[in-house]
Amino acid sequence: MNLSRRITGLTGGGSDGWDVYYKANAMTEAGHDVTHLTIGEHDIGTDRSILDAMHAATLAGHTGYPALNGRKNLRETIAARVTERTGIKTTPDNVLVVPGGQAGLFATHAAACDDGDRALYIDPYYATYPGTIRGVGAVAVPVAAKPERGFLPDPADIATEAQQGAASLLINSPNNPTGVVYPMTTMEGIARVVQDHDMWLISDEVYDTQVWNGPHISPRTLPGLADRTLVIGSMSKSHAMTGSRIGWIIGSEEAIEHIGNLSTHTTYGVAGFVQEAAFYALNKGDAFEAEVAAPFLRRRDLVLEMIEGMNAIKVIPPEGAMYVMLDLRATGLSGLDFAMRLLDEHHVAVMPGESFGQAAAGHVRVGLTVDDDRLVGAMGSIIELVTELTA
Ligand code: PMP
Repeated sequence: MNLSRRITGLTGGGSDGWDVYYKANAMTEAGHDVTHLTIGEHDIGTDRSILDAMHAATLAGHTGYPALNGRKNLRETIAARVTERTGIKTTPDNVLVVPGGQAGLFATHAAACDDGDRALYIDPYYATYPGTIRGVGAVAVPVAAKPERGFLPDPADIATEAQQGAASLLINSPNNPTGVVYPMTTMEGIARVVQDHDMWLISDEVYDTQVWNGPHISPRTLPGLADRTLVIGSMSKSHAMTGSRIGWIIGSEEAIEHIGNLSTHTTYGVAGFVQEAAFYALNKGDAFEAEVAAPFLRRRDLVLEMIEGMNAIKVIPPEGAMYVMLDLRATGLSGLDFAMRLLDEHHVAVMPGESFGQAAAGHVRVGLTVDDDRLVGAMGSIIELVTELTA
């Protein structure tokens, strides 16, 4: 039977960028002691109190079909949070609860793009972006943000692509994989381009609680952008709730109403007990979010300290999120070849930069997602291999 081109073409042919991750998992299963620094999974689990709230919600009967757009109490809490953090009045009608940021990425692109429309995204990018765009039938067009520009996109490059026609631009600040946080000048440049070319701006803000050098700017706050911007939020990173699959989309009332129709025809909402747990978790307040974020800043500093003064390893110090992108071009190896050797010889798994696009070739992304001692050990292995390769 022939499968659709949309499904068979989802990964764009070739590798999906997760080869090192799969191999590392297979090695762990075979009994090797592998340090996994590949995916954005916290080393702590979801807080016990949130799990208790979830359990209590199941017993209280939140086990039937859920409120499709999200429970009112949860949408009110999210709207209040967004209003407080951005200064832009946001009501529950601007909020759609979705099963994770990933579902939000798909739904917002489905809302912004018709079949065959060009959808822009910034390279380096979170690995699912191009597949998500292809999944809605649009054409994924990367715009490079080179390491030489501090991994910040140049609005002029975005404009060049926009001139050929584009329905949307997807940005991500704080950024995965680079950790850059877009300054106001970059945001203003982006705002001009999307307005000049009448495009949707999709802003992936799932790392908005993990910002070390701020401020985090949500483009929805820029003049004239609120109605053309769709913001994606998630509790995966802010509350260590990756497995609960809960996030949201913020947009105009009209956009949210229509995207809600998509939820009805795809996910049919988010489990009621998960929504209740999310409500509880958001009401734990800022201090809890700061506690979840704190280890990543501490570990970022540990990594930066270990490579300070090294010529063979360069880095643009991350300003947010939970990763450090190391520039290993001095070794002469691709990020993939380096990562494979590191895994084979030192049993340390990192993501090759090429998994995130061409702009990050020759880099590897180190997840700050293991305890400090293990991270220091893994960084020691990276330094040892780089030293050997550049001797
Ligand atoms: N956007 C970015 C930039 C991410 O790194 C991730 C997860 N690693 C997601 C979206 C999706 O997150 P989730 O679906 O767990 O909310």
